[in-house]
Amino acid sequence: MRTIVAGNWKMNTDRASAAALISALVKSAGSIADGVQVIIAPPFPFLSMAVEQCAGTRIMVAAQNCHQAEKGAYTGEVSASMLKSIGVQACIVGHSERRQYFSESDALIGEKTAALLAQGLIPIFCCGEKKEDRESGRHYDVVTEQMKGALGRFTNPELERIILAYEPVWAIGTGLTASKEQAQDMHAHMRSLLHMHGPSVAERVPILYGGSCNPSNAESLFGQHDVNGGLIGGASLLAEQFLELVRIAGMKQ
Ligand code: PEP
Repeated sequence: MRTIVAGNWKMNTDRASAAALISALVKSAGSIADGVQVIIAPPFPFLSMAVEQCAGTRIMVAAQNCHQAEKGAYTGEVSASMLKSIGVQACIVGHSERRQYFSESDALIGEKTAALLAQGLIPIFCCGEKKEDRESGRHYDVVTEQMKGALGRFTNPELERIILAYEPVWAIGTGLTASKEQAQDMHAHMRSLLHMHGPSVAERVPILYGGSCNPSNAESLFGQHDVNGGLIGGASLLAEQFLELVRIAGMKQ
């Protein structure tokens, strides 16, 4: 199984700083270990530039969101086919910030995932429990509902094209990280849900950890059996830290 390091830049950078960050990553792209997949998800306005700068390297460009419809009267929205037309290869869906601030439901996230799959793009599907869910012991149920609610409709070949990311909401941008045991236990649970669709789905779908992951905790998190890399927020905005995470991912190979 490949190890993936994906950077979610969120609503950060401007044209100049985005270009500089991508250049720094591209300069080191030659040293990405075999079996490691690097993905960056800059904001929409910088995607075309990112695709151009990353052309011919092993860095894949992803978007952070898309609309579920292919086209039409949806002012301000961006479709999966538009992303595909500029060379974007993947897209994050179901991030907790979109669930929280834009009221995205599991059903809607499922529709966005379907739109991406229909265009041949890779959905990076995020799920994870809130602090109160973990404190009340509901964390497995919450993640099960999120996965079943959004992904239950897909065939095995479709599921095999998805990347999953477990992102406990209480760990995102807080400096709190799931312990390696908490991460492994939830990833194993998610893997068991995939297994219900058949062994090949469970074997092929990478499950990333996200939530205050940085070079000081990545080795122990990435070292877990069912952790296939990370979805990185804050640390993906600093080339040195992100490249260090890519290097640590290479140790798993
Ligand atoms: C994220 O938002 O996907 C994330 C993992 O953020 P951070 O690394 O900053 O916690």
